[in-house]
Amino acid sequence: MSISPAKRKTVSERARFLCEYCVSPKGFSPASFSIEHIHPKSKKGTDEPENLALACQGCNAYKSDKISAIDPISGRIVPLYNPRKDVWEEHFLWNEDFTEILGLTAKGRATINLLKLNREEVINLRRVLHLFGEHPPK
Ligand SMILES: [Zn+2]
Repeated sequence: MSISPAKRKTVSERARFLCEYCVSPKGFSPASFSIEHIHPKSKKGTDEPENLALACQGCNAYKSDKISAIDPISGRIVPLYNPRKDVWEEHFLWNEDFTEILGLTAKGRATINLLKLNREEVINLRRVLHLFGEHPPK
């Protein structure tokens, strides 16, 4: 394990304990969250906090070692959303009942598709959390 507990804590707190992609709260997830390398180690990504993000199991698994994906509208290969460099609100938007993430940009759309940010279980979690005033996160 190359990432120290102190660094894990820093990254988790910086993310406010939310997956930095699908924004699911860690505290309501049955599966543990991971500290994810935005630029993968296999592609010379570092363990520095600027290259790390908190990610739920699903987002982490779908992202894997990818850094780009296809925008479903333009068909172009574009970089994935980078939680350290990009602003979530500039690339994503909630639908009217806050259950689905919509892409505002090519990068947003490509990330939604590759990481499956609107997976059934995540949509169901958002629906339940919304009922209890815990979603969307402030
Ligand atoms: Zn996630």
